[in-house]
Amino acid sequence: MDIMQGADTAGALNEAAWDGLAARLDDAFPRLDPVGRLKLLARHVPGPLVLTTSFGLEDQALTHLVATAGIDVSIVTLDTGRMFPETYTVWAATEARYGIRIKGFYPRATEIEALVERQGIDGFYASQDARKACCHVRKVAPLRRALAGAQAWLTGLRADQSQHRQVLAFVSFDAGQAMLKASPILDWSRERVADLVKDADIPVNPLHDKGFLSIGCAPCTRAVAPGEHERAGRWWWEQDGQQECGLHLSADGRLVRGRSG
Ligand code: SF4
Repeated sequence: MDIMQGADTAGALNEAAWDGLAARLDDAFPRLDPVGRLKLLARHVPGPLVLTTSFGLEDQALTHLVATAGIDVSIVTLDTGRMFPETYTVWAATEARYGIRIKGFYPRATEIEALVERQGIDGFYASQDARKACCHVRKVAPLRRALAGAQAWLTGLRADQSQHRQVLAFVSFDAGQAMLKASPILDWSRERVADLVKDADIPVNPLHDKGFLSIGCAPCTRAVAPGEHERAGRWWWEQDGQQECGLHLSADGRLVRGRSG
């Protein structure tokens, strides 16, 4: 596979070449297990790979696979300043278990100060615009810095987490971030992830056992009732069914999709 097809004279890939590489990787992924997918990415992406983790079940599984397979991936997290105490405990336990450092990226102090002055410390409950403004300052802007210089962004997204995520590809070119976006466990069920976590004794957030299936910031996450969808506890007061924080949205507000999206 000639991944450099379409490279310019400086050796960088142009957009068409990125699209072609994404398509070839996306075609290959279904035939591989997640470690095989990670190795394929590491072999063919001509620059740094970054995994963003929020220490949820899927991210913990992916961190385990990356660390135990010895794949050269930087693991980073976005510390919004509003996370559960348990999340920090899992962060520390994960570093200790795998002997790694997970780099934290933080909101700019001046931006937080302006946001809180404008809308109050819990102003995100007031409207979806206010909530998105908070997510932007605490998550989206730090994400840009976390991904600076990366050529592939690895996520623990699963297709069956929400209706909107079912359209995602394993690998796509994210034109907004100008890098590949890859989801090596996209086709795994929550049960399959939970089995890996249990079998490998991977550190997990104890809140999962209390009904918090998807864990984000403390004031914006609640436990879900039996039978409720796993992301129903995120921004539960918003009723439009588009509960995303902006990390996985394109500039026009849509989820970054695959070729068939
Ligand atoms: Fe702010 Fe809630 Fe978004 Fe966290 S999840 S950044 S507290 S609005």
